Amino acid sequence: MCMEQDQHITKESDLMERIVALCKRRGLIFPSSEIYGGINGFWDYGPLGVEIKRNIKEAWWRDIVQLREDVVGLDASIIMHPRVWDASGHLATFSDPMVDCLVTKKRFRTDQIEPLDGVALFFTGARDSLTPAVCNEPFSVLILPGKKPEDARQVARQFYSLRGLKDPVLLGESCCEVHGTVSYNPENGAQLTPSRQFNLMFKTTVGPVETEDNITYLRPETAQAIFVQFRNVLDTTRMKIPFGIAQIGKAFRNEINPRNYTFRSREFEQMELEYFIRPDEIVLKTQGQIDEQGGEEPRCNWGWKAWHKYWLKQRRRWYTSVGISQDDLEEYWQTKEELAHYAKATVDLLFRFPFGKQELEGIAARGDFDLTQHQNYSGKPLDYYDEVAKQRYVPHVIEPSAGVDRLLLAIVCSAYDEEELFSEEVGKKETRTVLRFHPSVAPYKCAVFPLLKNKPELVAKAREVFLSLRQFFPCYYDENGAIGRRYRRQDEIGTPMCITIDFETIEGSRLSGQRDTVTVRDRDTMQQRRVSIAELKDHIAEKLTVFPQRSSLR
Ligand code: ATP
Repeated sequence: MCMEQDQHITKESDLMERIVALCKRRGLIFPSSEIYGGINGFWDYGPLGVEIKRNIKEAWWRDIVQLREDVVGLDASIIMHPRVWDASGHLATFSDPMVDCLVTKKRFRTDQIEPLDGVALFFTGARDSLTPAVCNEPFSVLILPGKKPEDARQVARQFYSLRGLKDPVLLGESCCEVHGTVSYNPENGAQLTPSRQFNLMFKTTVGPVETEDNITYLRPETAQAIFVQFRNVLDTTRMKIPFGIAQIGKAFRNEINPRNYTFRSREFEQMELEYFIRPDEIVLKTQGQIDEQGGEEPRCNWGWKAWHKYWLKQRRRWYTSVGISQDDLEEYWQTKEELAHYAKATVDLLFRFPFGKQELEGIAARGDFDLTQHQNYSGKPLDYYDEVAKQRYVPHVIEPSAGVDRLLLAIVCSAYDEEELFSEEVGKKETRTVLRFHPSVAPYKCAVFPLLKNKPELVAKAREVFLSLRQFFPCYYDENGAIGRRYRRQDEIGTPMCITIDFETIEGSRLSGQRDTVTVRDRDTMQQRRVSIAELKDHIAEKLTVFPQRSSLR
């Protein structure tokens, strides 16, 4: 088999379709409740997806909690006291602007509607040709590109039919040019309702009695539990400021328009760190000066700006370790107008998805807003006694907040590749689809095959190798189909190495030196080499740790 030029992937939408198809075909992601027609905004992770997800979460936990002395973990409940959401501001402000189509009732997020130019038809009302009924409600329709005025009138008739007219005759038609309008349904041109705010929190009731008093919410973010448990963590550990509390867990948002596959879901997982620091005035008091630039190694004189930069750098660095190239990441610093009223600065880390550059993670400097709010609402002190400054204060916080599902999608998009190869088996060109996962997130690190399924001695040896490797690496065993097809299956699920047990392994002469050796085939280069079974484990371990970055593979 010889490798030919990489096929250039042109259409980004086609690319996304192929990625979605692969995720379904190979058991990474399934629509939730699919046999009942699915449920918009909810997804299930199949046998391979769940492994990738666990790998992502474990990599984050290891980097943020286990490899640091200044961060501890938390696993809090999803449903919390409803006052939490009052204090955090979510009840009052965690909402998106929403509009509905007056004809189809389809709901849109106002800020996601593309502004349109065109001509709109206005009607003062309609009468019924079959009955004396009249509807005096005005209505308008935009004539969409490629459509005729009659199409727009038809939409208007639909509207008046919904208002009870059996055979509407439109009244008082006039027309007007409109520019940059977001008042019409981009799919049928129908007028939309005025924009109103829609709270994104899922409501539920706790206990057997459904009353107003029992209403609570599924958490829309994991962060608040960290603030609410700040005192308990402080009292039960020996943490001293600066220190962090980290949590991974489910969050729920009743998104108006879930879209872009798993990117915007209604149920998702977050990985959040709240890193508590001294307010700048305390740094100034104890250190005599404030360093705003920071660097690699944290110092006592760092102000919030230095810490914010530090965490941005740490988080960018981490993405490389799960296979996201720095070239595919971009920083977006929120403007003053975009910032939440309490935030001092927020930088979003964007990833180049096939459907555009979108947020993977936000790193916010949130001041002392959250702890102060919970202190005021609960009446319980959430301050900290600083032994150096010899005073109490409410710590400030830096919050790196990432989404597991978005990252998994980014990892799959980034790993997805197609190349055209000449297949000697088939005698023509074939497309090889390969997920070039970083080994840290690959569901299986290696796969073991006997060359032939019907040779018991090959199968026995292959099983022996498989069972011994499985002690050290997630490993897959496959004996079905031609060896080339087995390689392709592993390529499609991103297994970095395939190990084949052949006749040389069991019968090779001592002279040829092939006895007790196996073929190890590399997913990315497709090169094969013989490795002795005795050295196999170390060989795989080494290959997994010195994995080249994706950019250097091309
Ligand atoms: P967006 O602007 O895209 O709605 P956000 O700024 O509201 O996101 P945050 O509240 O900062 O998001 O949440 C932190 C992280 O949680 C996001 O960077 C993202 O990775 C993840 N996240 C937020 N909402 C969703 C969602 N609906 N589906 C999947 N992941 C999400």
